[in-house]
Amino acid sequence: MSLEDHLKKLICHHGPLSVARFMSEALGHPQYGYYRKQDPLGRQGDFITAPEISQMFGELVGIWCASEWQRMGNPDNIALVELGPGRGTLMQDLLRGTRHIKGFHESLSVYMVETSPVLTAIQQNNLAAYNNIFWYEHFNAVPDVPLLLVANEFFDALPVHQYSKTDKGWCEQMVSLDQNEHLAFSLSPNLASAAIDTRHGDAPQGAVLEICPAGLSLFSEICQHIYTHGGAALVADYGYCEYGYKDTLQAVKNHHFHPLLEDVGDADLTAHVDFTALTAVAKKAGLRLYPPATQRDFLLAMGIEQRTSQLMQKASDAQKKQILSACERLICETQMGTLFKVLAVTGE
Ligand code: SAH
Repeated sequence: MSLEDHLKKLICHHGPLSVARFMSEALGHPQYGYYRKQDPLGRQGDFITAPEISQMFGELVGIWCASEWQRMGNPDNIALVELGPGRGTLMQDLLRGTRHIKGFHESLSVYMVETSPVLTAIQQNNLAAYNNIFWYEHFNAVPDVPLLLVANEFFDALPVHQYSKTDKGWCEQMVSLDQNEHLAFSLSPNLASAAIDTRHGDAPQGAVLEICPAGLSLFSEICQHIYTHGGAALVADYGYCEYGYKDTLQAVKNHHFHPLLEDVGDADLTAHVDFTALTAVAKKAGLRLYPPATQRDFLLAMGIEQRTSQLMQKASDAQKKQILSACERLICETQMGTLFKVLAVTGE
């Protein structure tokens, strides 16, 4: 059976699926889910991420972590957690880049939160040189100690519900079957909850609202952990700070956009992250927060220009070209610089 057959069977038995259920089956089904069966990253894969573009990304996130550790007064037992660590490249660069900071590594236990067996095996291989690294499928297994958490392109993979504003009000977008028994989008005839109408009553007809309960409740757990035990979290992703009321759900295969309902389970599915909603969660949990920065501003503040010049000093001409183009890709406004945002929240 394929994932598509599985989805059709679900729809036949239980009726149309919410977009969130569709997304979680497509990405996370234990047997057929996209993230469960392959390594999606890199040139050979479907997409490339900041840590895969340049070692500088992980190194600079490492500087942020180490400075947060110092701000906390150098605690001697902390959990460094990465959500959705891909190939483990960010963690490798982070650990290598911070190895000279006195006492930092000795204080760390590292927890990789990953559900993909394929990527877990790659991470374990890439991080074989380090001790004290543990793999979990859920954040809630992390012990009750101060936390440093990083998540790059993780929240965009969590399932979103989609609602459309019709002339009757907000209706949920569903995945159902058309007359030819093919997967097709349709709108639920029922009106969505009144809470949506209260908060988004002014949105024009045709507006699309995306809500990610899985992301919000996980982030709330993280913020409560930080409030109680201390720490800081850094979330980097492509996303927005103001509601554009746009449909941002997209499928990507072989580095190109792909029709959403084709090759399900063999194409990546993501939705832009709602940074305003994440910020509200942190505020409610009583954390100190900084308005989300663009990836460009974050990396410039962490010293990407200085690190670029440093790396260039020992590089060949070909490497120099590569280092410069990677830096540009990460910070340039027309590339990842402004579409990607970085949210930092900290305890007291
Ligand atoms: N952070 C990496 C990889 C991003 S791809 C990078 O920047 O290169 C998304 C990652 O999240 C993958 O490792 C995927 O397996 C993982 N993932 C997706 N859904 C998850 C879930 N619900 N729980 C834990 N990990 C998940």
